[in-house]
Amino acid sequence: MTGTDCLFCKIVAGDIATDIVYESDTAIAFRDINPQAPTHVLIVPRQHIATINDIDDEHQALVGSLFAAAKSIAATEGLSDDGYRVVMNCNEAAGQTVFHIHLHLLGGRTLTWPPG
Ligand code: AMP
Ligand code: ZN
Repeated sequence: MTGTDCLFCKIVAGDIATDIVYESDTAIAFRDINPQAPTHVLIVPRQHIATINDIDDEHQALVGSLFAAAKSIAATEGLSDDGYRVVMNCNEAAGQTVFHIHLHLLGGRTLTWPPG
C-alpha cells in the first residue's frame, strides 16, 4: 500500500490536516489525534515504508533521521531532562494500525514498564 491508499502518505502530501510540530527533508511530525500522554507526537518518514520488516540497508540514514527528529522535538516539548519514550509498533500483535512506519514520542507523565 502506498500513495493514495495510505493515511500517512496523505498527511505527508498535505491532503489531510494535522497539527504539525516538525518538518525536515526526510520526515514530518504531528500530534496524535488520540493522545496517550500530554505529549504524543508521531514522527513519520516522507517515504512510504509499511513496517519495520520492510526497512532495508538503504533506509538506515532515513530511520536515523527519525530519532534525530525525536531528540529535537523532545527538547522543544521540554521533555529532555525528565524523560520520554520512543516506540515503533510492528504489525498487529504490537498494535500497529497505520502501515507506514512512524515513531511515537510520548512524554509529559510518568510512563510505566512493561507496556501493556
Ligand atoms: P499505530 O497504532 O502504532 O499504527 O499508530 C497509529 C497512530 O495514528 C494512532 O496512535 C492514532 O491515534 C494515530 N492517528 C490516526 N489517524 C490520525 C490522524 N488523522 N492524525 C493524527 N494521528 C492519527
Ligand atoms: Zn504511506
